[in-house]
Amino acid sequence: MKKILVIDEDPVFRNTLNRLLSERGWEVSEAEDGSKGLEMVVQHQPRVVVCGMRTPGCNGYQLTQFIQGHRELVPATQVVVTTAASHSRDRETALEAGANAVLIKPIIAAELFKILDGLTRTESDKPAGEPGPEAHVAHKTKVRFWGVRGSLPTPGAGTVFYGGNTSCVEVRAEGQIIILDAGSGIRSLGVQLASEFKNKSLELTLLLTHTHWDHIHGFPFFAPAYDPKNVVRVLSYEGARRGLEATLSIQMESPYFPISLQQMPGNITIQELKGLSFKIGSVKVEAMFVNHPGVCVGYRLFTSCGSVAYLPDNELSRRRTNPGASELGRSVSEMPQPSQREDQKLIEFIKGAEVAIMDSQYDENEYASHVGWGHSCADDAVAVAVQARVKNFFLFHHDPSHNDDKISRMLAKAKEVAAPLGGATRVEAAREGLEIEF
Ligand SMILES: [Zn+2]
Ligand SMILES: [Zn+2]
Repeated sequence: MKKILVIDEDPVFRNTLNRLLSERGWEVSEAEDGSKGLEMVVQHQPRVVVCGMRTPGCNGYQLTQFIQGHRELVPATQVVVTTAASHSRDRETALEAGANAVLIKPIIAAELFKILDGLTRTESDKPAGEPGPEAHVAHKTKVRFWGVRGSLPTPGAGTVFYGGNTSCVEVRAEGQIIILDAGSGIRSLGVQLASEFKNKSLELTLLLTHTHWDHIHGFPFFAPAYDPKNVVRVLSYEGARRGLEATLSIQMESPYFPISLQQMPGNITIQELKGLSFKIGSVKVEAMFVNHPGVCVGYRLFTSCGSVAYLPDNELSRRRTNPGASELGRSVSEMPQPSQREDQKLIEFIKGAEVAIMDSQYDENEYASHVGWGHSCADDAVAVAVQARVKNFFLFHHDPSHNDDKISRMLAKAKEVAAPLGGATRVEAAREGLEIEF
């Protein structure tokens, strides 16, 4: 039975909701004040909590913030905040804190049921004999490239084969749809999801490695975020002084974009991650801070079929020139400490991955004039992947100045580098539309 907790100081309101929801098959519990309610949320892990915006003890805003900031304690509970129509700012404030929905009092039963249906509909709720589109991938992990380019989208005749869209990779595993970065590739992914799932609601998790443009500029064009029946969770680390949500909001502010992030009709929650290990459903995720300007991470997703490592922006240390040493023409490869320790950490992070998608923006000559820019030489990335016994390695974050021919030559060179190192790593260059299933 689905559990729901109603937190409100008004006993008549709690009673009414209890009756309405019990009739619909919910297991309802009640709390008259916020602090007691918060305890019950952690203890009982309800599917949904309905909390008044001005409930004493811990109000709806504080409760939402706590839940969104402590997903390790409350991984799946969704929050509906209630408020009076006269408090017009409450709605915005609650959604900003990460509430999944806001209900205006007096509550209309049909509206409440509609919201709850949207928030809780999953595969298991569908009538038997009506398998959802995701059913066929339930026991496999599927990785699909929607954008493989770094820095800037580069459409045109020269990039038709590998594709010109910026970073976006879709992973489907354990019934979850996880999107890695929101570069311009996410637009086509959104179109595909909308046509595949039609009138079914979607629960999506978008994991951002960092907030450089090429990893977020597709989000305003992501169709599922405009559909009120969908839930989109955006997770990342605080990449800027103003925080993750503000950073994502700014690119949609007037005069840059006509619709603000807050106006997007989907149920969008934005959560700053704290720890380096967390779960999305039953997919365990580990993160690692990497060498790239600002705050940037790589992720590794562990599924029951194997793992996917994604490090789109990272400058490996082995070739980096030490500023003091550059005058002498010595590279870091001649100075084993401490840079190789950094690479070693990364090797441990990706060790044995089924799939590793890694920054390979430059060739050997280009790298020499881009030291410290935060991107790697493809030859180094492949060497690290072979050393880590990765099964399938993909050159990724292709430079905007590289056409298909250039990327194919870099791929051939990467294969040459890999061969004498031994091992069984399959080396490929990521390209739009390419799909791997394992
Ligand atoms: Zn990038
Ligand atoms: Zn970047």
